[in-house]
Amino acid sequence: MSQLMRLWIDGTWEDGHKQAPLLAPYGGEELALVGYASPEQAARAVEAADRAFREHCGMPAHRRSSILYQAADLLERRAEEAARIVALEAAKPIRAARAEIARTVQTYLFAAEAARSLTGETVPMDAAPRGEGRTASVRREPVGVVSAITPFNFPFNLVAHKVGPALAAGNAVVLKPAEQTPISALFLAELFEEAGLPSGLLNIVPGDGRELGPTLASHPLVSFVSFTGSPEVGRQIRQLAGLRRTTLELGSNSPLLIDRGFTEEELGRIADETAAGAFAYNGQVCISVQRVFVHEELADRFAAMLAERAKALVAGDPLAEETDITPLISAKAAERLKGWLDAALARGAELLCGGSFEGSLMRPAVLRGVPEDAELSCEEAFGPVAAIAPFRRWEEAVAAANRSRYGLQAGVFTKDVEHALHAAAELQAGGVMINDVPTFRLDHMPYGGRKDSGSGREGVRYAAEEMTEAKLVSFRSG
Ligand code: NAD
Repeated sequence: MSQLMRLWIDGTWEDGHKQAPLLAPYGGEELALVGYASPEQAARAVEAADRAFREHCGMPAHRRSSILYQAADLLERRAEEAARIVALEAAKPIRAARAEIARTVQTYLFAAEAARSLTGETVPMDAAPRGEGRTASVRREPVGVVSAITPFNFPFNLVAHKVGPALAAGNAVVLKPAEQTPISALFLAELFEEAGLPSGLLNIVPGDGRELGPTLASHPLVSFVSFTGSPEVGRQIRQLAGLRRTTLELGSNSPLLIDRGFTEEELGRIADETAAGAFAYNGQVCISVQRVFVHEELADRFAAMLAERAKALVAGDPLAEETDITPLISAKAAERLKGWLDAALARGAELLCGGSFEGSLMRPAVLRGVPEDAELSCEEAFGPVAAIAPFRRWEEAVAAANRSRYGLQAGVFTKDVEHALHAAAELQAGGVMINDVPTFRLDHMPYGGRKDSGSGREGVRYAAEEMTEAKLVSFRSG
């Protein structure tokens, strides 16, 4: 049944300046009428955040920590309800939606720990002759108001990666969730209110990114912009934010390298993990496996194994327990992918399985021979596509993996220590996962990209540190 969603500003619900129907990507049912914030309302949210920050910036760390623990606990108790929201508004298969909620609970627990363990350092001033007689330390102070702008694909956990660290470090937040997933974000208002977060420290303003971007990224009271989404929007945010501190977590076309020397059984396990890495949530994951470089001795066998696994995936209703594959987030996303697939096939790529569309649902596709400059290789597919390319020499595979404008995470399977060390040193990525797919992520590890994949790091403690200002205090005695 459709419900009216409102904005959460300064601890009160208010109507948006207009309402937009939110339709389920699967089935098309109207899930809600969503109030959209106007730029003036977004500005009021920023001002409320600034007031709350000034009023509460002295909140002790143990108190911030216990609010975050409480929020994690409340979410865990309502996990099934939250998972169903994700399944409905993002069309995420329910098993994956439950896994996202479990991770989100972890993320808030890590944030609760970070609140109590952020530390500064002492500086040995007497290392320079003029520094004698002084002791100094670096304090970490909250930045103030953090604007958080988030994508649709992990509507709970990627929000938690901004809200958790920001609150842990003592900041106030204005959150603008993706247009497709506002219900997941607004759910947080209830959790944090019940957890005892003072009014104004978390504000949630659903709305049109293009309309609200200028206010959220360049309002004079905003100190930090934390954005996760596409490189195109990331570039605009960077321009809007000017000299403000920013974290940009952007897209990728993540590579996976598979060396020679694996047994049939081992290759089967790698194929299982690759299928999960490439096709989970229809590949709508920023570190989804997209380009797979396989040693030529194993390439045919591996391609057959991956295609077999892709064909076995069950498409259907996100709420059904057996479902693996669901419609892409929008008809526009499906059209884009279909265009890229047709273009690759027209240029000689071979389709080993999948690639058909029913509405905006795409059957997972395994391809070979995709030209390196075709969109399916060089752009971010953000869909269920794996393109296999055989290689002969390890160095060639590493060089090919690096021929990308992106650099988020890379995965490597090898039994050769020299190859592992070479990949670790040479791959241009924020993270190299040896004997794992690039899709492997834990919520406390440092995470972020190079090149067009962004700048700055998330991973709770790292994000919390980024959302602080370092202040040197030098004390001269005598
Ligand atoms: P998107 O860039 O279209 O939207 C992300 C957010 O930006 C939304 O809230 C949107 O409303 C807002 N937005 C749009 N235009 C804006 C503007 N001009 N100013 C300010 N905000 C604006 O991305 P999406 O389709 O929601 O998500 C998919 C993208 O996100 C993919 O590229 C994916 O790789 C990336 N992503 C990256 C990570 C990561 O951690 N690196 C994680 C998840 C998703």
